[in-house]
Amino acid sequence: MAYLTKIKRKEIEALETKDTKWCKRCKVIKPLHAFNFNATGRKFASIRCIECDKEKAKERNMEKFGITLKQYNKMLKNQGNTCKICKTQVPGGNGRWSIDHDHKTGVVRGLVYQTCNGSLGFAQDDIKILASAISYL
Ligand SMILES: [Zn+2]
Ligand SMILES: [Zn+2]
Repeated sequence: MAYLTKIKRKEIEALETKDTKWCKRCKVIKPLHAFNFNATGRKFASIRCIECDKEKAKERNMEKFGITLKQYNKMLKNQGNTCKICKTQVPGGNGRWSIDHDHKTGVVRGLVYQTCNGSLGFAQDDIKILASAISYL
């Protein structure tokens, strides 16, 4: 894998072969199978590799909650790379942690496993409901 920075489009094209492609985001030449294809044929390959597509989706999701990738990673590290509620180490579903926020204030509370986030939603973030559920169980 070649790592390329500050490189001209023409130089990139010269380095790409029919089996490889340059990723615009991580700036690495990767095999074609590392890219998503919208249709058959190279022309339609994503400008970013699959990993970068995932990262990009993550970033977009963060923007929605007003946090940066740096803040997200710091938050995840601070909670020991686990769900803040059940402590699982696997984010589940789409491979992303759910960004849990206070629906009243909009403040991000932490990163949680998808199902845990759903549980809070079902309980309407209500401590009384959750406490009642605990005694019920
Ligand atoms: Zn990439
Ligand atoms: Zn959890």
